Amino acid sequence: MMTFREQLLHLIAEAQKIHREEKSLTMRSLRVIGELELRRAAPSCGMSVEKFARHIALTKDQYLKRSAASRTLRFIPEAKLLLEAGEISLSHLALISAKITRANRKVVLENIRGKSLREAKLFMSRVTPDGELLPEEEICELKLTLTKSQFALLERAREVLAAAGSVPTDAEIFMKAVGDLLTKRDPLRKAERAAARQRNLDDDLGSRNNNVEKTVENNDAAVAAPKEGPTIAATRQQQNIAGRYIPAAVRHQVWLRDQGQCTHMHPDGSRCQEKMMIELDHINLYCRGGEHSASNLQVKCRLHNNFAAAAAFGNEWYRHKLESVTHGRDS
Ligand SMILES: [Zn+2]
Repeated sequence: MMTFREQLLHLIAEAQKIHREEKSLTMRSLRVIGELELRRAAPSCGMSVEKFARHIALTKDQYLKRSAASRTLRFIPEAKLLLEAGEISLSHLALISAKITRANRKVVLENIRGKSLREAKLFMSRVTPDGELLPEEEICELKLTLTKSQFALLERAREVLAAAGSVPTDAEIFMKAVGDLLTKRDPLRKAERAAARQRNLDDDLGSRNNNVEKTVENNDAAVAAPKEGPTIAATRQQQNIAGRYIPAAVRHQVWLRDQGQCTHMHPDGSRCQEKMMIELDHINLYCRGGEHSASNLQVKCRLHNNFAAAAAFGNEWYRHKLESVTHGRDS
């Protein structure tokens, strides 16, 4: 009959043995999965990642996590020592796999060892996809409430982005979507691109840059309007100068000059802060012969544009409002 103390020592020894084996099995699993990944196992077997994961007795998430972790181990030998010492986990390895580089590996490993996964995620949010470490900033947390079908779209976006490397976090998906949206839709960025195009054109007429520029220009055109042949486009441009549409070049110039912010000045000398619902306002009204030129156009928020128009048409009440209105202090 074993005494209580003997039983306890026996159980401790058994736990040590099992967990050493477990650790060694995890390392072996990572090595094998790394080899499978190098051989592009799932497509080579004609299977989806999900099916292949089930085939080797893992869930898809487990498989993706382990293959990302194995990539880190392959390129960063120091990470293996930390994993074996229990200072970082498999989840940490998967988390850093897309952003760790030879150049940043010391900083990254130093900042995630011994940290919770949440802390490690916060740190990694400062590392760019190119592996550059951004300065520390205050963190803003965002809580999202999605329906099941909206959530499915988020998961689909994760799958699409994961194709380029490791599995992206919610924050990475969100910021990628925001970045794409601004590249496509932000009038200020369009204006900056147009200005850069013009500079390049001036610098280097008819050189190899033209190809690159044309691609960017076509992208802009594709967003703004269906593609047209050069003749139609040229005719349109002439009509635009005379017609109701402000030519893109002028629009870009005004957006850049006013930085997309309402130019209305409050009576106290401060400028309206509004950058939403921005419109281009003709100083000398278009219907009264004012032209589409940068000097006759300014950026106004909808509120101040409406009041300016009303004032121009002689409405005393609106004129009064225009002089007194400031955002947040007026209804
Ligand atoms: Zn305004």
